[in-house]
Amino acid sequence: MKLSQRITQLTQGGSDGWGVFYRARRMISEGQAVTELTIGEHDIRTDPSILAEMELSARQGHTGYAMVPGTELLRETVAARIQTRTGVNTTRDNILITPGGQSALFAAHVAVCDPGDVGLYLDPYYATYPGTIRGAGAVARVVQTKAEDAFQPRADRIDAASEGAVSLLINSPNNPTGVVYSRQTLEAVAEVCRRRDLWLISDEVYDTQVWDGTHISPRALPDMLARTLVIGSMSKSHAMTGSRCGWVAGPPDVIEHMINLATHTTYGVPGFIQDAAVFALNAGPELENRIAAPFRRRRKLAMDILAAQNTVGLIPAQGAMYLMLDIRPTGLNGEGFANALLDTHAIAVMPGESFGQAAAGHIRVAMTIDDDRFAAALRTICCFAAELSSGR
Ligand code: PLP
Repeated sequence: MKLSQRITQLTQGGSDGWGVFYRARRMISEGQAVTELTIGEHDIRTDPSILAEMELSARQGHTGYAMVPGTELLRETVAARIQTRTGVNTTRDNILITPGGQSALFAAHVAVCDPGDVGLYLDPYYATYPGTIRGAGAVARVVQTKAEDAFQPRADRIDAASEGAVSLLINSPNNPTGVVYSRQTLEAVAEVCRRRDLWLISDEVYDTQVWDGTHISPRALPDMLARTLVIGSMSKSHAMTGSRCGWVAGPPDVIEHMINLATHTTYGVPGFIQDAAVFALNAGPELENRIAAPFRRRRKLAMDILAAQNTVGLIPAQGAMYLMLDIRPTGLNGEGFANALLDTHAIAVMPGESFGQAAAGHIRVAMTIDDDRFAAALRTICCFAAELSSGR
């Protein structure tokens, strides 16, 4: 039987860029010890206090269908949090609760793109972006950012790509680069969106993980409120990746349509998860800082280790749980280096090429193992790179 173009062309049949990751997992299943610095998941689990609230809520009976837009309390709590953090007046009518940020990304593109419209996204990109845009029926068009610009997007490149485009997807703090977009960058991006009449879809799921600089939500920039959809999530800020709880913040009329979409797709998020999310958000910045602290610590460890050598370059590590390392002096590309590192030292990292072409010759290192093992692995990566470059 024939399948739809939309489903068969989602990833355009190409490699999904996760070859090193799968190989590492295979080695582990065969009993080998592998240091995994690949996926973006905390090495701690959801806080026991959040789990206790989840259990209490479930035992109290919140296991039936929940309100599709999200419970009033969670929508209000998310709205208040956004208002506090950005200064932008936000009410529950601006919020749709979704099963994680991924589902919010999909819903946002369905909301603004008609079939065949162009949705822009930036390279390097979070692995699902092009497939999400295609899944919404749109044409995914990539705009390059450059290592020389520390992967800050340039408005002139976005402008040059925007013929026929209806939306632009950005992500700051950024996965995979760890870069936080500056005010100057975001103001220039916002200006293009206004001039080219683009929707701005702003993925801010790492907004609590900022080590250097300030997170600015472009929804708060002049004349951006009506054209910005913000993607948020409990996954990274509260180590609740498996709970699948996120949101879209946007204009009430758009949210109204997206609620209709949710009724016909996800049918909402379980009530006991939403109650746990309210509890977690009300625990405030203290809990968020505690969850972010290991990455802040490891980023400092990494800066010290990298400062003591001169082969591997570091893209300014300003936020999120990743380091983007420039290994071009070794003469290998990211994929070659990552495979050789796995074979020689049983350390698994993501090749930059897994995230598009802009990060070729780089590797992404997730700071998601305990400090001592992390520091040891990073030292090994630096020594390995130095050996390769001196043998050229
Ligand atoms: N956006 C970015 C940039 C991510 O890195 C991730 C997950 O890694 C997501 C969105 C999706 O997160 P979730 O669906 O768990 O909220």
